Amino acid sequence: MTVFKVGKATVSRIEETYLAIYPPAEIFPAWTDAHLKEHGHWLAPHHYDPDAGKLKLSVHSWLLQLDGRKILIDGCCGNQKSRPTRPFWNMLDTPWLDRLAAAGARPDEIDLVMCTHLHHDHVGWNTQLRDGRWQPTFPKARYVFSKLDFDYFQQMDRDPATPPAEFGSFRECVLPVVEAGRADLIEGPHRLNEFIEILPAPGHSPGHFVFKLDVGGSRAMVTGDVFHHLLQVFYPDWNFPKNSNVDEAKASRRRVLEECASSGALVFPGHVGAPFVGYIEKSGSSFRPRF
Ligand SMILES: [Zn+2]
Repeated sequence: MTVFKVGKATVSRIEETYLAIYPPAEIFPAWTDAHLKEHGHWLAPHHYDPDAGKLKLSVHSWLLQLDGRKILIDGCCGNQKSRPTRPFWNMLDTPWLDRLAAAGARPDEIDLVMCTHLHHDHVGWNTQLRDGRWQPTFPKARYVFSKLDFDYFQQMDRDPATPPAEFGSFRECVLPVVEAGRADLIEGPHRLNEFIEILPAPGHSPGHFVFKLDVGGSRAMVTGDVFHHLLQVFYPDWNFPKNSNVDEAKASRRRVLEECASSGALVFPGHVGAPFVGYIEKSGSSFRPRF
């Protein structure tokens, strides 16, 4: 397990999967062999599998422990969720809950669950299948969801002309939490408490959030899917597929990277490979990761 410090807070990475998934050109059309030459020295082995010729993506949650409070950020894909079009994340059966316990939290100890956005790979563990029904995994937690995302995916989910939103994860992992009265639908910017600020960073989804932490002057930024891979730090205009708004996603990426660079925040992305956490530096009109 990987544990990081932000002031007096600890942040543990709770891994679900860490796999070589996408051929780079499939994701980033601007990718050429010249990029592999230029970046190969840091890409392999943590961010690119040269044998498979595929980019590696981690799927993980962050467990933030601060003043006795236990906050879970993003809920991965979850177990027993049918995702036939995503074979690498289909019907998972991982020991994610054991890893969460090893990091210091049983489900009934989680005070708060915060989702950067409502895509299926960030809401999975919100619920578990019990007695044939999807029920909240964390019985005592409040869940913080983006209201814009909730409205967007609810409308999509209700449209009989389209399949269930987010491969069914809206019905399985979001609605049961709302129906159990455990969700707080938030519109950013919103100050959650003295340590955490919720800021909008739309584009990957309409209501995508980043979470800004300031713990006694130690800063961190949980960036969700503002960028998926460190290549997008070098090339902020490279979009990852599946954005609700391509231009908005690019603008949010530049703005968040800019803020990470100028504030010196420790950056916690949603899918970046080992060492999973690091800093952003400005470099001309672009950026460099220092991970
Ligand atoms: Zn994601």
